[in-house]
Amino acid sequence: MTDPSFEALPLAAPLHRVLRELDYSVPSPIQAQAIPLLLQGRDLLGCAQTGTGKTASFALPILQAIHDRPRALQPRCCRTLVLTPTRELAIQVGKSFATYGKHIRFSQTLIYGGVGQVPQVNAMRQGVDLLVATPGRLLDLIEQRHVDLSKVEFFVLDEVDRMLDMGFLRDVKKIVALLPAQRQSLFFSATLAPNIVDLARTILRDPAHVSIAPETTTAEKIRQQVCFLNREAKRPLLEQLLWEQSQAGAQKLTIVFSRTKHGANKLAKGLCASGIPADAIHGNKSQAQREKALERFKKGLTPVLVATDVAARGVDVKDVGLVVNFDLPNEPEAYVHRIGRTARAGAEGRAVSFCSEEELEFLRDIEKTIRMPIPRWDDHEWHLETLAQQHGNGRRAQQMQSPSRNGSGQGRRRPRGSSRGGR
Ligand code: AMP
Repeated sequence: MTDPSFEALPLAAPLHRVLRELDYSVPSPIQAQAIPLLLQGRDLLGCAQTGTGKTASFALPILQAIHDRPRALQPRCCRTLVLTPTRELAIQVGKSFATYGKHIRFSQTLIYGGVGQVPQVNAMRQGVDLLVATPGRLLDLIEQRHVDLSKVEFFVLDEVDRMLDMGFLRDVKKIVALLPAQRQSLFFSATLAPNIVDLARTILRDPAHVSIAPETTTAEKIRQQVCFLNREAKRPLLEQLLWEQSQAGAQKLTIVFSRTKHGANKLAKGLCASGIPADAIHGNKSQAQREKALERFKKGLTPVLVATDVAARGVDVKDVGLVVNFDLPNEPEAYVHRIGRTARAGAEGRAVSFCSEEELEFLRDIEKTIRMPIPRWDDHEWHLETLAQQHGNGRRAQQMQSPSRNGSGQGRRRPRGSSRGGR
């Protein structure tokens, strides 16, 4: 039997110290598995969602190496490169390194788009121990010769599934081609679809595999519910839920997901007009606006955040007690990511999804992906039993059809276009 405490891991004293200060006593499963392998210098293929403690699982061994083997900085170079799909996640990862590396001497900087490049160029002039970057801006700065990847010792690709969803495959490949062959590489993804495994093969050398919470399971601590209702009933039901939630003490924060940027804006405005302080984050907002909204949310000043999928990635706020899917996502994996915004760090959470008639097909896809029906919540005045029945019938029909997959040529129709939330 292995000792389940952090004390048993051969981490440096300043790291043990910060873990005690943070009150982390037991490593999460991914930390328990990955940290010893990474300390041995192995490459790693990790299948894990956010919320599993994944960031510390790579930050701690990297900080340990920086601590054990300090090196002089080289102009425009970095020892560690962490690639993330979004600015929010880059900021989050940078913050985590700062937290875990509080008692370690190291330098870091962030590179992402949507803001001026001059401070980023200046920060890279002397070189850094750690660079956290999104692919597009990083490539821009490399092409302008402000960044040099030839000295990278540790390379982390975080949330690769999302990176590919956002069309970064070519950029990632270009970046990988610039890395030295001698390096330790870590690859994290919430799903391991064949294209993702193919990419991992081209990057990793004899990797150890660690798999936590595969894509098809959703966090057990989340109480999931679906409401069948008319589109017009979504607003009043949301307001009722938010009012109840505002009485919920410590876990009072709520993230409401909207499929489009326009929808997110409209909803946040409408809620404010009804006396419920709410803010929206999505790709059309400037970086400064998004950060301000997140800060106000974290502090509880605006306890309701209306978000699109991509903008909410990397939002790691402990006191989110409720996630509402005002619109169901048309990509079932997004459902798993969305509800993972609640029940963070061992807390409990609730995820309520609104389903109107146009969204029945999305719901079916989601339930197939998570391999369970979402319990329905009908104890409210807007419940539409006919829709619930229709869904039940659809589900039965689907079960009866599989596994024969009849060749009738009737491809599954996706309702409306595949609008994909804002960036
Ligand atoms: P992550 O999956 O890296 O986004 O981490 C999710 C949350 O869990 C963050 O708020 C971390 O601060 C917290 N966390 C990570 N590891 C531990 C641990 N071993 N014990 C308690 N909390 C943790």
